[in-house]
Amino acid sequence: MAFINENYLKLPGSYLFSEIARRIAQFKTDNPDADIIKMGIGDVTRPLPPAVIKAMSKAVEEMARPESFRGYGPEQGYNFLVEKIIENDFTPRGVELSSDEVFVSDGAKCDTANFQELFGIDNIFAVTDPVYPVYVDSNVMAGRTGKFNEKGQFDKIVYLPCTEENGMKPSLPTTRVDMIYLCYPNNPTGMTLSVAELKQWVDYARENKSVILFDAAYEAFIREEGVPKSIFEIEGAREVAVEFRSFSKTAGFTGTRCAYTIIPKEVMVYDSKGEAHSLNKLWLRRQTTKFNGVSYPVQAAAVATFSPEGKAQIKETIDYYMENARIIREGLEKVGYKVFGGVNAPYIWMKTPNNMASWDFFDKLMNEAHVIGTPGAGFGTSGEGYFRLTAFNTRENTEKAIERINNKLK
Ligand code: PLP
Repeated sequence: MAFINENYLKLPGSYLFSEIARRIAQFKTDNPDADIIKMGIGDVTRPLPPAVIKAMSKAVEEMARPESFRGYGPEQGYNFLVEKIIENDFTPRGVELSSDEVFVSDGAKCDTANFQELFGIDNIFAVTDPVYPVYVDSNVMAGRTGKFNEKGQFDKIVYLPCTEENGMKPSLPTTRVDMIYLCYPNNPTGMTLSVAELKQWVDYARENKSVILFDAAYEAFIREEGVPKSIFEIEGAREVAVEFRSFSKTAGFTGTRCAYTIIPKEVMVYDSKGEAHSLNKLWLRRQTTKFNGVSYPVQAAAVATFSPEGKAQIKETIDYYMENARIIREGLEKVGYKVFGGVNAPYIWMKTPNNMASWDFFDKLMNEAHVIGTPGAGFGTSGEGYFRLTAFNTRENTEKAIERINNKLK
């Protein structure tokens, strides 16, 4: 008889977006003619930039000829991509990295989910509340969270509430934690942390020998000067932080798959004798065993995002999404909704009217305005009473959606 990993039985309900999809499908069956505008799931809608397509096509052609065909590549990624990443994303911001501190992968989702494997099962970890659900669920599967309790939380997780009172910015934990997940610009709240705010976390981690798992999947959307794009812009972060990045939202790679993780050689984890081990070495060992690299055409395509044409095309797309974000944010504010985010991120986090429960607001918005968003409760208990809208849509749909919300839900 094969036994189940019982940790999987602790996972509550269905995954947030499956439940949303189920409700939409039901609504469509009941209202086949409704013109639904989806501003729920965080997927891009604009195609890959022409420079990326050109590079990918060329790489595919190379694979057709014996003299340029490539089989397995390095698990860590081709050096031609790693060098471009360092040169474009880090050196200009004063961050020095060596090529063996960059690990190319097929997604920040897999990397953020898999990374917890390197930590002992008794580590206590902290997450913001609300949070991107992958950090929590991957730790549940590993057995690091204890039971799901009546408050709708896991016993052993340290939750850091982000609320209207603290401006959606988490306070330092009051009890010791070993691992800290931070995501800035944040999904779902769309907020960022300043250099001084991030420094507090780096200092905390240094004092407690904790590790910060920093998800910067949305760094490309930062518009304001002075907002850190990388945790490594903060003094001391090389000792205590790992950073996850992705081409998904930056360059439209959600269906193409390319990301990377930065692990400075100084970041250590400790064994029961107190001896230090390098996370960089452990991740290399893990990846060479469980991962066989990102395909050559995809890595060649990712390099094109750093060419002058690629950069210009990416900028245009991000500007387009961020104009949508502005339309959503200002449109909702104008009629009195309280909103967060949407300035340095493609997400707008709105307070539901009259403290309505977030799933009720989801149903109301779908039924009355035919607009789909994401209920805040799906991101954690502190997300109750909030709702996430995304800027990943056409201008026309974005304008139409805001008009409908403002007219139909008065
Ligand atoms: N991290 C955050 C915070 C996200 O919101 C997402 C996707 O929505 C990801 C990571 C996933 O990125 P990728 O497409 O590289 O797996």
